[in-house]
Amino acid sequence: MDHFTYQNGVMHAEDVPLPLIAEAVGTPVYVYSRATLERHARVFREALAGVPDKLIAFAVKSNPNLAVLRVLGATGMGADVVSVGEMRRALAAGIAPEMIVFSGVGKTAAEMVAALDAGIGQFNIESEEEGVELAEIAAAKGMTAQCTLRINPDVDAGTHDKISTGKADNKFGVPISEAGQIFGTLAKLPGVNLRGVAVHIGSQLADLAPLETAFEKLGALVAALRGAGHTITHVDLGGGLGVPYRVGEVLPEPAAYGAMVARVTKDWGVKLIFEPGRVIAGNAGVLLTRVVRVKRGIKDPFVIVDAAMNDLARPALYGAYHHFEAIEPKGARMTANIVGPICETGDTFAMGRECDALQAGDLAVFRTAGAYGATMASSYNSRGFVAEVLVDGDRFAVVADRIEAGAIMDAERVPEWLA
Ligand SMILES: *Cc1c(COP(=O)(O)O)cnc(C)c1O
Repeated sequence: MDHFTYQNGVMHAEDVPLPLIAEAVGTPVYVYSRATLERHARVFREALAGVPDKLIAFAVKSNPNLAVLRVLGATGMGADVVSVGEMRRALAAGIAPEMIVFSGVGKTAAEMVAALDAGIGQFNIESEEEGVELAEIAAAKGMTAQCTLRINPDVDAGTHDKISTGKADNKFGVPISEAGQIFGTLAKLPGVNLRGVAVHIGSQLADLAPLETAFEKLGALVAALRGAGHTITHVDLGGGLGVPYRVGEVLPEPAAYGAMVARVTKDWGVKLIFEPGRVIAGNAGVLLTRVVRVKRGIKDPFVIVDAAMNDLARPALYGAYHHFEAIEPKGARMTANIVGPICETGDTFAMGRECDALQAGDLAVFRTAGAYGATMASSYNSRGFVAEVLVDGDRFAVVADRIEAGAIMDAERVPEWLA
């Protein structure tokens, strides 16, 4: 459930009519709803009521906006980060360092040092090589890094190939077949306290079965590690829960996920860590755009909007579907190709889509754009970086300035020898 609804025929974010934001901030612009973020955080936490000891760490990569992190941190969430840049954002938003988990296959030595100095709660080590390096760095500083070993359970998450992370040939984690041996090697090293295991098999999962399979494999591994004399106190179950992008699409409810987790893990006797991203932020944001013009096509017309693949990359990257609707629908419908202005055919949001009838100057939204939206923006075609707005009841604020193409150009230099 979200707080983007029509009131008197005009789409509002909570109590703010979207045309007001378009007027004040311009388009394209991402609009987030505080009440929706808070609701999703609450629903997720309530779904896990059956898990006594837990940390819910928001996957910052899904929406790293400082104001969004501030809202979510205030609900008691920690942060799952995949770079020092994300770590600094989480800290700046007031999230306590001990509630920060650092994932990612390519943590550099400098990032490890920065994370140790910040006192983060946990490193999820993704390879034996990384574990050895982290142990050396921490030991040299006289510190002990709290760690889990990320396991690749070789489970097909049944999602898009580019966001599947738990198959044997994906780059993430260590193969489950070698996990016991690698764990044994790393557990001996000074500088790390290897206290558990982690898993994250992919994103936008539409089915709980692959998650359950992965968790069961992890449970068996925990038992085997304990059998080998290791102390296991923490297990990180990652994120991945999908959200509905299409009207009427049905995905597993957080409650069903929570019940499954409670059932599978009930005898583990560990603290569980969760890393939800999309399920918290996805439907808490829309990308507000204005129709530049409608161009005749051979078959369907092209609705050319002022948002493009540089602002919302998911359709171009993954062929992703984003529901598209008018801010002030008049009842008439059309079938159209919805495209941005960028000079790439990939800059297509939808072909042959049935949608509200639109003409030049009309406002529209792409829904479910709160996760993996603004954060994937680029300045391709010298379009600048899209602005972001947070709504709270009847007020709103710009929470990320639009970075104009000129400001990006200002950071470029022509060397003297070319002048
Ligand atoms: C991307 C990612 C997440 C979040 O995934 P969602 O599908 O957005 O919940 C969690 N953990 C790790 C390690 C990730 O890479």
